[in-house]
Amino acid sequence: MKKAIALVLAGMTAFSLAACGSSSGSTAASGAATTTAAAASTEGAPAASTEAAAASTEAAAAVSTEAGSAAVDLSGSKYLSDGVLTVALNSTFPPFEYVGDGTDDFKAITANPTNATGFDVAMVNEIGTRLGVKVEIADMDFDGIIPALGTKADVAATGMTITDERKEAVNFSDPYYDATQSVLVKSDSTVATLDDLKKCTSVGCQLGTTGETVANDNGLKVNSVKSFNQAVLDLENGKNDAVVIDQIPGEAFTKQYSDLKLIDGSEFNFDVEQYGIAMPKDDEVMLNAINSTLADMKSDGTYDKLLEQYINNYEAE
Ligand code: GLN
Repeated sequence: MKKAIALVLAGMTAFSLAACGSSSGSTAASGAATTTAAAASTEGAPAASTEAAAASTEAAAAVSTEAGSAAVDLSGSKYLSDGVLTVALNSTFPPFEYVGDGTDDFKAITANPTNATGFDVAMVNEIGTRLGVKVEIADMDFDGIIPALGTKADVAATGMTITDERKEAVNFSDPYYDATQSVLVKSDSTVATLDDLKKCTSVGCQLGTTGETVANDNGLKVNSVKSFNQAVLDLENGKNDAVVIDQIPGEAFTKQYSDLKLIDGSEFNFDVEQYGIAMPKDDEVMLNAINSTLADMKSDGTYDKLLEQYINNYEAE
C-alpha cells in the first residue's frame, strides 16, 4: 500500500513563485528541504502510551462489569466481536498520523514506512485498550479510506472532517477535534489573500480531502495528488505555488521544511471543521462503544494528555 515518495521533480526547482501573489518578483528560495524541528517533539511522542495505558487499565476493567457507567458488551458488534479494531489512516498527516521514529524529522518519517504514530494512533490504541480489542493499523491513500470501511478496515481515524456528504456513506463518532483549512506557501511568497490564491497556477491538495473541496469551491487551480507529502514536495520543487492543508499538519510541515510558512485559514474565511472517527453505518454497537470510550477519555483527562503530547507542540505561536 505504500506510496513511493516521488523525487522525480527535483529538476523543477527553477520555477519561480511569481505565478501568483499580490506582486511578482520573489526570488528562488533556498532550495532543499531542511529538517530543523526535531527537537520539539522528542519529549512528547514516545512517552505517550505508558501513562495512557496505565490510566486505562481501570477503565477497561470497569467496562466488563455492570457497575461501570459505560459498560460495553461488544458481542453484538458486527466489526468488533472478533476482538480486532482495524483502523484505516493516511500517514502523511503529521502530527495526527505519520510514520517515523517519533520525532518531527522528515527524513526519519519517510525512512520508516511501517510504523504509523501520532495523535490518532495513540487515541485508537487507548480506545482499543479500554474496549479490550487489539488495534491494527491499515495505512492507505486518503481517497481510498471511506470505500475501505467495512471491508479492509473497521473505522478510520485520520483527522477526517465530519461532512454531510460523508455522513451519507458512513457514521461518525462524536467530534474530537476542531480544525480549519490553511495555506502553505514558500516563506518568500507574496500570497496573502484569496484573490492572490486564485491567481496561483497550481494549488496542491490531497485527493479526497476537504481542503480539495474548499480549493475547488473557491475556483482555485487545483493540483490534487495522493498524499500531503507529495503535495508539499511539489511546493518545495516549485511545481505548486501553495498547498491547502489542515492547520495543524500545515504547522508540522513548516517545522519539517524551514523555507515554508503557513497562512491562517481566517485570512481566507475558511470554515471551522470537526474531526470524527468514521465507521460503517451498520454497527451501532461499535458507534456507541467508541463514543462512550471517547467521553470517558475526555472526562478522566487522558484525552488532554494525548493532546498535550502530540498536538500542542504544533499550534500556531
Ligand atoms: N480533514 C481533512 C479531511 O477530512 C484532511 C484529512 C487528511 O488528509 N487526513 O478531508
